[in-house]
Amino acid sequence: MIPFQNSFQTLPRFFYEPTEPLPLSAPSLLHTTSLVQELGLQGLSSEMLLKWLNGETRIPGDERISTRYAGHQFGVWAGQLGDGRAISLGEIKTQSLGRQEIQIKGSGPTPFSRRGDGKAVLRSSIREYLCAEAMHALGIPTTRSLALIQGTGKVEREVLEPEAIVARVFPTNLRFGHFEMAYHYEKKEELSKLTEYTLHHFFPDHSVESMLTEIVDRTARMIALWQAHGFCHGVMNTDNFSILGLTLDYGPFGFMEDFNADFVCNHSDQEGRYSYSMQPKVAYWNLERLLICFRGQVPDETLGKILMLYPERFHLHLFNVYQQKLGLRKTLPESLFSSLFTLLSETELDYSFFFRELSHYAIGKPESLPRLFAHLKNETHRAAVERFLLDYDQVLSIEGSNDSSRIQDLLNTNPKWVLKNHIAQSIIDAAEKGDSRPLSEWFKVLQNPFIEHPGFEVESGPTPSHLKSILVSCSS
Ligand code: AMP
Ligand code: MG
Repeated sequence: MIPFQNSFQTLPRFFYEPTEPLPLSAPSLLHTTSLVQELGLQGLSSEMLLKWLNGETRIPGDERISTRYAGHQFGVWAGQLGDGRAISLGEIKTQSLGRQEIQIKGSGPTPFSRRGDGKAVLRSSIREYLCAEAMHALGIPTTRSLALIQGTGKVEREVLEPEAIVARVFPTNLRFGHFEMAYHYEKKEELSKLTEYTLHHFFPDHSVESMLTEIVDRTARMIALWQAHGFCHGVMNTDNFSILGLTLDYGPFGFMEDFNADFVCNHSDQEGRYSYSMQPKVAYWNLERLLICFRGQVPDETLGKILMLYPERFHLHLFNVYQQKLGLRKTLPESLFSSLFTLLSETELDYSFFFRELSHYAIGKPESLPRLFAHLKNETHRAAVERFLLDYDQVLSIEGSNDSSRIQDLLNTNPKWVLKNHIAQSIIDAAEKGDSRPLSEWFKVLQNPFIEHPGFEVESGPTPSHLKSILVSCSS
């Protein structure tokens, strides 16, 4: 027996609709994660797991629903949206992970599909499946991946693409958009039930005010981690913002390659609303959209004060993570932070590669970074790196930093591999041809991107120019 405890259905019916999935044809299980065991699903044969996640069979206690939410998309109120292609199969109470909800994405139309087909393509499903687990391995709060299923049917996008379902897991699907739905459609009773429910299940021992403060803090921390890892989400709409501060809904995301503060990963985002440097401001804007929904429950003045905590919390988290990325035990001086970004802007170095290489630095010895220097384009860039290293030396010596213990820490902090677009694309290309080996191999690398993985050296370097121009759009 799977211990289902489906709590979402204790909310008013306004927030959900029972929904039947549309199974993929001739499905195969491409990959599963250790969450199968962690959720206590190992008792199911892989045949049974596949049939369940594909919506072909039920297991006692499961309940299939899609949920109603709204949102602001690209800065504009979009009205009702909802789970247009995702169906929750139920929530399981586990020993080690607490309450976890399983949701299948790409499982056919729901009452919230609007004009969409409710389907997902293999390409975007592989991207979500791998990236969520890669982010988890980096210590970034995120939804998790459970399984990836491929069918033999095709889905019409810009071209015909293979169909797939990704099964994902999170403590709750609640988004800023659920609150916006109740507030903007003037469902007072429903909004207050939603608030009570959220407090009870996810923020016990909190008041509404302290829950909102906690959401501000978690969001600030998530964004600080995105910035520190060069992660761009691409579609930071309020319907894609988790109430738990989890990275949610992987679409046209991208890890920054050559440093560019104005990097935009989603080529449909022509104005660059969700560029790398805008992400922190957008999160603030989104939090404001959320807090507005609590007018009437919390005095405006208090809401204003809670929102004003964001810049300070974000700065705190940001400095904390960069302090770790530089292996500083005591503090990260503003001056070193700014000389770091001056260097990155001047040299446009591959972001993750730079930090991984810097992890090998021995104080006063630029020659300890042969791989970094080998990738510098010219004398000016070499001089810029040397200038930065002098600033770095100064801070390291003041705190009496020890090379070998710092290097050890840094190699566990700065990953050797992130899921760059060209890596994801090579995995997708193979999978579309029926070869899922690269998917399994890369899964292992991304699950532990801090240790060595012989055979994957090339992809740990800066992206070769001919692989830099891969464009990703919302069409998924
Ligand atoms: P996204 O930009 O993926 O976060 O999607 C925004 C909204 O559109 C959400 O309500 C999704 O559920 C819905 N949506 C996206 N793609 C589809 C699709 N193929 N079919 C139905 N709904 C979709
Ligand atoms: Mg979404």
